[in-house]
Amino acid sequence: MKYIDEFRNLDIAEKLYRLIDEEAKDLRQVNFMEVCGTHTMAVERFGIRRLLPENVKLISGPGCPVCVTPKDYIDKAIALTAIDDIIVFSFGDMLKVPGTNSSLLKQRPSGKVKVVYSAMDAAMFAENNKDKRIVFLGIGFETTVPTVAASIKYAKKKKLKNFFVYSGHKIMPPAMKLLARDKHVNIKGFLCPAHVSAIIGVKSYNEISRKYNIPCVIAGFEPLDILQSILMLVRQVRSKKAKVENQYNRVVKASGNIRALRLIEEVFSIKDSEWRGIGVIPKSGLILSKRYADFDIENNINLQEPKTSVDKGCICGSVLKGIKTPLDCRLFFKKCNPNNPYGACMVSSEGTCAAYYRYRK
Ligand code: SF4
Repeated sequence: MKYIDEFRNLDIAEKLYRLIDEEAKDLRQVNFMEVCGTHTMAVERFGIRRLLPENVKLISGPGCPVCVTPKDYIDKAIALTAIDDIIVFSFGDMLKVPGTNSSLLKQRPSGKVKVVYSAMDAAMFAENNKDKRIVFLGIGFETTVPTVAASIKYAKKKKLKNFFVYSGHKIMPPAMKLLARDKHVNIKGFLCPAHVSAIIGVKSYNEISRKYNIPCVIAGFEPLDILQSILMLVRQVRSKKAKVENQYNRVVKASGNIRALRLIEEVFSIKDSEWRGIGVIPKSGLILSKRYADFDIENNINLQEPKTSVDKGCICGSVLKGIKTPLDCRLFFKKCNPNNPYGACMVSSEGTCAAYYRYRK
């Protein structure tokens, strides 16, 4: 555990807080946004947000893949379970997300919904159960996509005709560009995601930083990583020179993971995609490329547009954009809690509402 202890040293944390305090003291209000669910959890767990000076605000953005998946995707996934020979495979945190009339969790006793740890498990199940059509729910950012791409390549190699992916995958930089332009949120710096950056690399943020004059710092997950990254953002704001810096250089490389990027490029194509609460963001989603189109469930089944309802009282959308926090939601803690989630932000282990509930209750 020594390795982790070094990144949780209290004396160094105090020094970093003092430096942030000193260097930010003559700045106007600055809003920095973290766009990674694991950062959101760490920030709440270690109380980082509450200890920052008043004029340095850390806002949570759309960093949780389950949270940004629109409700109609859940409704369509549930509709798939009604088809006789289809079994839907998913990561566990998708199960509790409420659809309009049901959830995948409620469908589970029928045996039509199964939880797996990887897309490859679903592909191997398909290989051993050729009388069933297996649909894997592809949810996640650039971090998860290469593993799903590998399962699709495996299915092609094995000539499987019964394995499909329903792709709800999203890519992060287009959402950051949209938020960078949003005057309501008025972001002065991004704490860039760690895992995603390990795949896409440092240079993927150059355009955001240059075009919108926004400082970007790729941050690790430990408290000292996050504090040092905030200090780096404060220094960039002071210098009035926006650039991309890599605090997490023990993991993230300039060009990212070339092999993983090639895999994504081979198996997927970029498309416009809807993000819960944000709307359609151009070129922010992934569908299967022409070469692998046979494995795209949307090319094999005509999924009817569901009558998806709007969540009454849930302000997940505003929370995901950083305009509001869970504390602004009248359902938070009372009616909405992890045992009875109203919105996706309370369901996922990386959701902002779940983080606030867990560490502030
Ligand atoms: S607390 Fe619950 S109802 Fe409120 S925004 Fe979060 S998920 Fe939605």
